[in-house]
Amino acid sequence: MAKLEQEASRRRTFAIISHPDAGKTTLTEKLLLLGGAIRSAGSVKSRKSKKFATSDWMELEKQRGISVTSSVMQFVYDDYKINILDTPGHQDFSEDTYRTLMAVDSVVMIIDAAKGVEAQTLKLFKVCRDRGIPIFTFINKLDRQGKEPLELFEELEEVLGIQTCPVNYPIGMGQSFRGVYDRFKKEIELYDDKREQTLIPADSLETVRERLVQVADEATIDQLEEELLLLEEAGNPFNAEAVKAGKQTLVFFGSAISSFGVPTFLKHFLELAPGPAGRETSKGHVDPADETFSGFIFKIQANMNPAHRDRIAFLRICSGKYEKGMETWLDRTGKPVKLAQPQQFFADSRENVEDAYPGDIVGIYDPGLYQIGDTLCATKDTFNFGKLPTFPPEHFSKVRAKTAMKQKHFIKGIEQLAQEGAVQIYKTERYEEYILGVVGQLQFDVFKYRMEAEYNVDLDIQPMSFHLARWLLNDEIPREALRSTTNMVVHDSQDRPVILFENEFGLNWFMQKNPDIKLAESVI
Ligand code: GDP
Repeated sequence: MAKLEQEASRRRTFAIISHPDAGKTTLTEKLLLLGGAIRSAGSVKSRKSKKFATSDWMELEKQRGISVTSSVMQFVYDDYKINILDTPGHQDFSEDTYRTLMAVDSVVMIIDAAKGVEAQTLKLFKVCRDRGIPIFTFINKLDRQGKEPLELFEELEEVLGIQTCPVNYPIGMGQSFRGVYDRFKKEIELYDDKREQTLIPADSLETVRERLVQVADEATIDQLEEELLLLEEAGNPFNAEAVKAGKQTLVFFGSAISSFGVPTFLKHFLELAPGPAGRETSKGHVDPADETFSGFIFKIQANMNPAHRDRIAFLRICSGKYEKGMETWLDRTGKPVKLAQPQQFFADSRENVEDAYPGDIVGIYDPGLYQIGDTLCATKDTFNFGKLPTFPPEHFSKVRAKTAMKQKHFIKGIEQLAQEGAVQIYKTERYEEYILGVVGQLQFDVFKYRMEAEYNVDLDIQPMSFHLARWLLNDEIPREALRSTTNMVVHDSQDRPVILFENEFGLNWFMQKNPDIKLAESVI
């Protein structure tokens, strides 16, 4: 295999999605520990309070005690190069969270065994499903009493509409939790106080019983046997194609806090999760092993370093090899650009990149040149990976500069931040007032903070009662026909008409009244 293909195929680039408190930070930390990327437990947690707080932009995170921005962590394990893209797990997450999912090849979904599928998991899951991203499920906190495994499968299948195939299966739960049985490797992994990994081969149900007699009570073994039989007979058989297409999720059980089940999960995951795949572009299919370097920007982060007010654009490499100092062309402008100071990110540091391969994420210094969704290629004959989808905002506010004197700065700031993808902006029809649309409330705070810090503009933000935006596809409809007391017609940054509604009820009522009108939840 050629070096480029070999390097690409050992990349695993994924995001961990979960509802807050399901254990994302804990699992991430255990994975980093396994990869030797951090030395002690607690390092990842401290990110929330200490290290990143060195930047004043991150000061906001500290105040709120949450992670506003997603970051990237790279480490090596078993000859695989792993890129974990962190997604903010807070309810107030942003479009960044969604867009991060565009840059991964698979997703790990963590579910709290006691809580099952929760609201935020569902939102993020839907984006994955729509994009056909393979999803691996880690059911966490088995050391506590939770829902029955079969009930959890049913919930995953019903609520998320995805087939489940458990790779391992819990032996007891809570007080009686004794470990898991690996259905693929046919071995028992014992959960004990010593926290050492104990693997016992057991290739038949009889052997499973024999091996467990010493450690588990009869009822636990009976239940395990019965449910393993049931899975054999009525469960979904492993289907690699369905996993790759995001139609079947492989399910793992464990207890992240004690790292139980984490090493085996990682091993299976690395084997079964896909590496970087080919992608469609404006000029045909591009394969990771294609020699021409290409990638796209999925995120721009401002002020990561307080010493110089820099912006970093995160580039996902899709094909070819990145080499230091190489010249690339920006498809949107057709102009050549040198990728300045590219960096890669580790658990607690960033380092200059010498070379990088498909699947890797590099951060490049952005002098205000890039936009979200931009494609860079190492050829004059550029192509692009298409625009990243716009996700429907759920909160809207009217904004203006507190003092009219600052109007010029205000417009510059609002337009730049919208271009960067930090918020969506709309304008009202008659008075051209600015309306901000965001996915998570916190984005308003971040926006206000950045407008003050970067553009020296004090903002007045007035929340509105709208929660849904729909793009109007048939523009010939007269405006008068659209207006009502419960909606508002505005224009997006590309001057496309958008109708804002207060709630689903208002939207449905509008649709019933105007059956000929075509509305879209998002546009490209
Ligand atoms: P996040 O919000 O998804 O990042 O969740 P955290 O990793 O911060 O975990 C939330 C809480 O659950 C913390 O108090 C963890 O110590 C706890 N936790 C994480 N994993 C486990 C587990 O396997 N068992 C138990 N009992 N608690 C856990």
